[in-house]
Amino acid sequence: MTAAGLSNKYKDLGISIELVESNQIGTIGVGEATLPHIRFFNQALGIDERDFMRATRATFKLGIEFCDWGTIGDRYIHPFGDYGEPINGVDFHHFWLRLWQNGHKSRLDDYSYPILAAESGKFQLPGPDNSEIGSNFGYAYQFDSSLYAKFLRTYSETNGVVRTEGKVIDAILTPETGFVESIQLENGKRIEADLFIDCSGFRGVLIEQALETGYDDWSQWLPCNRAVAVPCEAAGPSLPFTRATARDAGWQWRIPLQHRTGNGYVYWNEFISDDEATHQLMSTLEGPALADPKQLYFKTGKRRKLWNKNVVAIGLSGGFLEPLESTSIHLIQEGITALIEMFPDQNFEATDAAEYNRRMDLNFDRVRDFLLLHYVATQRDDSEMWRYFRNMTLPDSLTEKIDAWNTRGYLLRYEQGVFLPPSWVAVMAGQNLMPTSYDLRANKLSLEDVLRQTEALKHSSYAAVANTPDHADFLDKYGAKARFEPMTSSFSSV
Ligand SMILES: Cc1cc2nc3c(=O)[nH]c(=O)nc-3n(C[C@H](O)[C@H](O)[C@H](O)COP(=O)(O)OP(=O)(O)OC[C@H]3O[C@@H](n4cnc5c(N)ncnc54)[C@H](O)[C@@H]3O)c2cc1C
Repeated sequence: MTAAGLSNKYKDLGISIELVESNQIGTIGVGEATLPHIRFFNQALGIDERDFMRATRATFKLGIEFCDWGTIGDRYIHPFGDYGEPINGVDFHHFWLRLWQNGHKSRLDDYSYPILAAESGKFQLPGPDNSEIGSNFGYAYQFDSSLYAKFLRTYSETNGVVRTEGKVIDAILTPETGFVESIQLENGKRIEADLFIDCSGFRGVLIEQALETGYDDWSQWLPCNRAVAVPCEAAGPSLPFTRATARDAGWQWRIPLQHRTGNGYVYWNEFISDDEATHQLMSTLEGPALADPKQLYFKTGKRRKLWNKNVVAIGLSGGFLEPLESTSIHLIQEGITALIEMFPDQNFEATDAAEYNRRMDLNFDRVRDFLLLHYVATQRDDSEMWRYFRNMTLPDSLTEKIDAWNTRGYLLRYEQGVFLPPSWVAVMAGQNLMPTSYDLRANKLSLEDVLRQTEALKHSSYAAVANTPDHADFLDKYGAKARFEPMTSSFSSV
């Protein structure tokens, strides 16, 4: 993604890009669910959506279904879209809260077209008129990230990027500045450059092994530290949403692609063994496994500086937050966008790096808070892990956000961050955090009027969904479906 993004923006500007990667090491081989922003990344690169979807076996994604997070048996969808429309400038959820508090209880989900479409396994592209139900929502993809990397490799090479196969075994630093002067490959080749972008995954070959930048460990807030992943045959037509099911010691994902379903169990090894986690995952697959389960180890957190001297860490080398809200590929995109905007010259102004780090720190902080919300907005206390979350001290930024919601459904707006107020509403209401009051201005309408308007919205949302095609049919008709042998899988197993 980085080579593709930079080569698109800087081609013909006298900048040459060399991508060094090692087939022997390979990529992490997971990462299948994304956020809507990736569409704008592809568009900026001039990539045709259908070509991309066929190449990566992508399905459409309308949101994430969360099962068993508030209490066991609960389910809700965090959609890529708002609930209803503001009425007289007041967010819709305040009217829903008013009804709720007056005995008219309903699912907030009933006022969201993308949720209802997802629940029915339906999909179509948003229409051109934003004011219409069925137009005002976002969507993302569920895809094979290894195939995406291959796809972007071809794209980058076409844009002049030189790909060098080889393993980096050392970095040579300039004694006076500590900047990386060159990297040494195992095959004897040495490569010099002005700027090094470390996309080496958890290893952090340059940012950590060479520059010893340091890591902010966030395990006290997000203690899950392992995952086991396995693809399986799909049991039915691919659904346009990802599922995240809470478990005793973590949570399990289910991500439907065109040719298979991706599955994984993210867990805290304090409360479950690797064998037991693998057993639980394998015993809940919807179809036969297509590879051996793959074990992954991680520590939640981020590098102290994502840009240090002349090295910028993008991807897992910069940090990792568990994939509960599909944010890692998005953080890569944020890193690329910020780097393009603050692209240095040979003087490497300290202000560029400082601003880059400030922006990326905020992005990571915001994602951390949002992920943590899922664990703490819960009534569960049925296992050691859930009891741990009930007693933890939260970051101040999250405490303020939850307090403002709990009192009157108000959403403190962050200066920066990927998740906008409707996402916070989805999780807080979906996990049964019900405010004690609501925006007083919602009382301006009579209760009857509020009931009438919300009922009309619900009715038209269901009607719009009834006219929406099945997701699988849409993929086919749209020309996004790959022609492939069903059993082929690019998933690499250990
Ligand atoms: C359990 C789990 C689930 C995830 N799910 C999602 C998800 O649903 N959505 C999402 O957005 N993200 C997800 N992610 C994150 C996602 O997988 C990564 O953000 C994404 O794959 C990018 O990884 P990367 O390129 O930083 O690292 P990697 O994939 O590890 O790639 C590192 C590259 O560096 C090369 N390399 C490493 N060392 C050397 C060396 N010494 N010399 C030469 N080359 C080297 C490797 O060959 C490889 O090409 C998940 C991560 C985990 C752990």
